[in-house]
This record gives sequence, C-alpha cells and structure tokens, in this order.
Amino acid sequence: MLAKLKPLDAEAEAQIEAAALDERYGHLAPQDLIALSAGRFRPGEIAAVSSFGADSAVLLHMIARIDPALPVLFLDTGKHFGETLDYRDALAADLGLRNLRIVHPRAEALAERDPDGTLHQHDTDACCDIRKVEPMARAVEPYAAWFTGRKRFQAASRNGLSAFEAVGSRIRINPLARWETADLAAYMREHALRENPLVAYGYLSIGCFPCTEPVKPGEDARSGRWAGQAKTECGIHLSGLESSLTASSL
Ligand code: SF4
Repeated sequence: MLAKLKPLDAEAEAQIEAAALDERYGHLAPQDLIALSAGRFRPGEIAAVSSFGADSAVLLHMIARIDPALPVLFLDTGKHFGETLDYRDALAADLGLRNLRIVHPRAEALAERDPDGTLHQHDTDACCDIRKVEPMARAVEPYAAWFTGRKRFQAASRNGLSAFEAVGSRIRINPLARWETADLAAYMREHALRENPLVAYGYLSIGCFPCTEPVKPGEDARSGRWAGQAKTECGIHLSGLESSLTASSL
C-alpha cells in the first residue's frame, strides 16, 4: 500500500519555488529579473524595500522604469540621518515613484522598551528588534514577494546571496545580488542618479546614525555598521524577520 503523501506547507512550497526561480532566472540581468518578477506576481502582491542608502538609487531607478506605482517600503527607525530622509524624498520625486510607504516602529514598543531613545547604547539587538525587525515584518506581511537591493560583495555574510530566497512562506528577490561596485557606479553615472550625500563623507553603507561610521580604506562596505561589535546585520534580512512574520502579533 502506498504511504499517504503529506501536503507541502506554505514554507516548503516557498522554498521550492525560490529554488526553481533562482535556477531558471537567477542569471538574468537585474532589469529583466525585476520585469519578470513584477509580471509574475499580481499588483498588490509584490513590493520593494529600500533604505535609501548609498546605492539604493540603482534598484529604485530600475523599478521606476518598470512600474513607478510599485509599493516602496521605507523603514523610518527614528534614528536615521536627516540627510537620508531628505534624500528619500528628493530621489522619490526624481524617479517619479508614486507609492512610497513609510513604516514606523510601534509607539507602545518604544514607550515600553526605549523610552529615552538610548537602547542602542547598551543593547543593539533589542533596539533593532523594535525599530527594524518588527516594523519590517509588519510592512512586508501583506505581500507575497519583495525586492531588496542587497549585493554579494557588501560583506562576507552575503557571499552566497541568491537572486530568489524563501522567507517563511514568502519570496525575497535580490536582483542586484551579482553586481559589483563598478557595475553600480557605471549605472549611477549612465543615468545621472542622485546620490545620498553621506557617500561623499565615506559612508558606503548607511543605516541609523548612532550605529553607522564612515568606511576605512580597504574595508568592506558594511564595516562601518555597528563598528567594533560582532553584529553585522540588523535582523531584517535574517531569521529574525521570518520569526516576526509568524508571530501572533501580526
Ligand atoms: S541600527 Fe542602531 S539605532 Fe538603528 S535600530 Fe539598530 S541598534 Fe537601533
């Protein structure tokens, strides 16, 4: 007698789908990969996440050319540089992005766990949890898939980054995964894209101001993030997001 097959759960299905998409389309040029993905998911099912950081303009320019109404999610942690907030608005206007969505940490979480705004000084993981991971999970929860601007070269922790990844039951798409610094610079020049003004001061990866420093010559682009700590990622791209997406609070 044949054993009864157990139906795949949504997470297993997403893993299979991401692996199949990556094998079939992972080699495509970023623009083709974005166009294909935007066509594969229905409007309202797919978004983009952007930090409006050092080279965010590249992905956003490609998206704007394909679908300027695609939702672009920006996480306002309350700790961004003023330059980044101004840059966000100027770049969105340059590119004609029509669906910028700004996500904030929950006021109750800030009041309870970071009432004076100094949590980052003694517990960066807890601070990232309430200011980044939970809000990002809340922001992407309505979507089946979303784009990010992550690249392999940015840090050792991103060496094996693929174009399509499963995050729980959802798909995360990294069209620029294989691009190098020179590709990004050439694209910025070719399209005369506005640059985050902090880049001129040596900030090659830009996050919250208390946890971001300029990068020293010869160091990787993300070495200025949580400099001097073992921490290299805030959690929104790691399992913390996946856990938050399945938390009952969502
Ligand atoms: S990067 Fe720093 S300030 Fe921003 S949420 Fe994380 S710990 Fe807090």
